[in-house]
Amino acid sequence: MAELAKYERVVIDQDTCISCGACVATCPYQALELDDNGKSRLIWDKCRDDYSCVAVCPVKAISKTSEATPEAKSKKGWYRFGRPLSPDEQKAYEEWKAKFGITAPPAA
Ligand code: SF4
Repeated sequence: MAELAKYERVVIDQDTCISCGACVATCPYQALELDDNGKSRLIWDKCRDDYSCVAVCPVKAISKTSEATPEAKSKKGWYRFGRPLSPDEQKAYEEWKAKFGITAPPAA
């Protein structure tokens, strides 16, 4: 099993995000960044379920994936890959999407 199959990760509602940068600063794995619009974005392959971002966000824009709304899961732009995925990792990604009902595609 790919190591990346272990993690639940987070869902970010970029419409709620106020671009404060607190989540980016607190993540111990550098799994979050601000995108070109200044909104928080998850780097999917870097998340290790630390969840300090969920706690630190002042507007509750970040949820554990299992607790995110279907609407948030369907919005575009809130996650991307930090590097090309191996075939095993691609499989882990597909399983994560299916398990949590993620309908949004990764950002380019
Ligand atoms: S902590 Fe919340 S409001 Fe601040 S940048 Fe991160 S997601 Fe946006």
